[in-house]
Order: sequence, then structure tokens, then C-alpha cells
Amino acid sequence: MNNLYITRPLLPDIKKMTTMLKDIWESKKLTNVGSQHVTLEAALLKYLKVNQLSLFNNGTIALIVAIQSLRLSGEVITTPFTFPATPHVLTWNGIKPIFCDIDAETLNIDPCKIEKAITPDTTAILGVHVFGTPCEVDAIQKIADYYGLKVVYDAAHAFGVEIDGRGIGTFGDISMFSFHATKLFHTAEGGALSYNDPNLKQRIELLKNFGIKSEEEVMMPGINGKMNELQAALGLCVLQMVEQERQKRKSILEIYRRLLGNIEGISIVGYKSGYVPSYQYFVIRIDSAIIGKTRDQVYEKLKENNIFARKYFYPLCSNYACYKNLPSSATGNLPVANRIVNEVLCLPFYGGLNDDEIAKICDIIINKKKI
Ligand SMILES: *Cc1c(COP(=O)(O)O)cnc(C)c1O
Repeated sequence: MNNLYITRPLLPDIKKMTTMLKDIWESKKLTNVGSQHVTLEAALLKYLKVNQLSLFNNGTIALIVAIQSLRLSGEVITTPFTFPATPHVLTWNGIKPIFCDIDAETLNIDPCKIEKAITPDTTAILGVHVFGTPCEVDAIQKIADYYGLKVVYDAAHAFGVEIDGRGIGTFGDISMFSFHATKLFHTAEGGALSYNDPNLKQRIELLKNFGIKSEEEVMMPGINGKMNELQAALGLCVLQMVEQERQKRKSILEIYRRLLGNIEGISIVGYKSGYVPSYQYFVIRIDSAIIGKTRDQVYEKLKENNIFARKYFYPLCSNYACYKNLPSSATGNLPVANRIVNEVLCLPFYGGLNDDEIAKICDIIINKKKI
């Protein structure tokens, strides 16, 4: 059997891509908002059902700019159960991350625990729609409105997620999408910010282009966050494949559900009713007391069979050397996150996975004799 990884990038037909590249060659415009960029931005605005969109060279720079654009400072409340980029963008803005515990069901920041983390220095809440499961956006907005805080979402996993027909990127003040190659929709490297306030557009566009307003005017210390034409062209090709890929992953989810859904000691993370999922990841939780083996043992056993699962998001950000001494990083402050981080396992999940491969993965996870 071939090696199995948790994801494989969508790759368009090379001829299609070559045609796009020829157009770029002829235009002699490789970056600085060319026609590919303009077309992709319009297409994604529609697909994501958002009001404003700005493309970026990657999701991390996009999130750094989001925080700059809202002029956040002091402390921002966030989750420890995420990719390192989430707390790092706060640090890069001179902001202290305050870790808040997660909800045991969604694995997202627990709104019931946000209030007690608020201090006079708090300026915002940075939520993450982990594995594409939406945060409790209404509860979070209510807290933010009451205390006068901004809300930013890391929606890196939430491409195409909708709640009641509303794009996930319309909640909060700004949302960030990542278009990294490991994400469902990608531009090799890339990202975007979505937001509702049209007045933010100018500031975000200036910040992502060195603050340059005109040949003779630089307004602010901006950064280089521009998506180039090659990235945008790849994105246009990949976007045509996204809907079919999501349908394939939906079928694969059903097979996983059939094989793992009724196994005591294994629970499937997310995919509850009430929203359109992104199908970005398929993640299980393993209760070692019931299954008779730990998450790490299952991970190793899969690896011996050339199946490369991932322990997302182990270790917690609050346990990184750079954050572990923060008062909010104390284990006692984050009991749910510290427990669940040892139970999660991200399994192979992409359209090209076949039935036999899925069956084999599940067999290794379930079969007690094999360990
Ligand atoms: C992928 C990812 C990012 C970073 O995005 P890049 O485009 O790789 O910079 C940020 N947050 C989360 C949760 C991610 O999964």
C-alpha cells in the first residue's frame, strides 16, 4: 500500500496551469495586483459569501495585518489548541496572548471561560474555528459587545463553512483564511482577510503594501503581504476543483462514520448538524481507558503501516517554551485543553483516498490484538 498522509494538495491539470502562466508571461505583470489577483478576489468573495475580501501571500501575514488594522494592543484572549501562528501573530504585534480553555465538544475557545480572562488591558478575542467547526460566534460577540472588545477569527480551517446560509467570514470584525498547500483550497502559499466594514479596506490594502498610497506618499509602516500572479492563477485553477473535492470528502466522512462511529472509546470531532462543514480535517478522539491503548500507541501503530496521522494540536501553544511561563498557560487554567490534547488524532482525509485504505486505517485503530 502507498504511504498515506493526512492530506494531499489539489493539483490542477498541468496544461490548464500552463495556459494561465502564458497569460501572465504575456502581461509581464507578475505581482502588485494584476488581473489574476483581481479575478481570484472576486471569485472568492462570492464563494465564501463575504462582504469584503483582501488576498495575501500567506495566512500568517494576513492575520498580523488584521491585528494591525484594528489597532489592537495590550492583551488578546485566545485558545491554546491551535497552530503556532495564532498566538505568534499576537506576539509579533507586541500583544500578550492570554490563553483561555476550550470546550470539550467543539475544541474551540469556551465562551463561558472568556469573561474571567478579561482585564483592563484586553482589546480583543481571537477565536479559531478549529478543524472547521465554527466557534460559538453569537456568545462570543455578546461578550465582545458588552466589554467593547474586537473579535478576530482564525478561519484557516473553515473555507466554505456557512451558518444559516451566512459565510463564516462575516462573523466578528475580521476573519483570516489560509490558502497553504495543506488546506482544502490553496494557492501553494496564500491567504485572505474577510470583513464587513468597507472602511477597513483602505487600511488593510495599505498595510499589505508597505503603507504605500502613491508614488510620493507612504502612510504607515506596512509590510509586504501581496499575493502574486502565479499564486492567484493557481488559485483560480484549484477553485474549480474545490466543490468536487468537498463532495468526495463528504463520502469519505460517511465511510469513516460507518466504521468508527459506533466504536466505544472513539469519538469523531465536529461534523454536528447546524452548519455547512469545510471538510478540511477528519479528527478522532481516543479514550485510552476504553480502547486499551493510548493515542500515541495508535499513532505509532499507524506509522508502522506507513499511515502518517498527525497529533494536531499537540503540544498546546501554552506549553511551548516561549509561552509556558505566562500565568494563563498554567495547566490549572487549561484543564480541558491539557486533557484533550492527548486524545486527538488527525487521520488521512482527501478525495483520492479509496475504500480499502480507509478500511485498513480503521482496522488498525480498532483491532486490539494488533498492539
Ligand atoms: C495553516 C494555519 C495557519 C497559517 O496559515 P499560513 O497560510 O500557513 O500562514 C494559521 N492558523 C491555523 C489554525 C492554520 O491551520
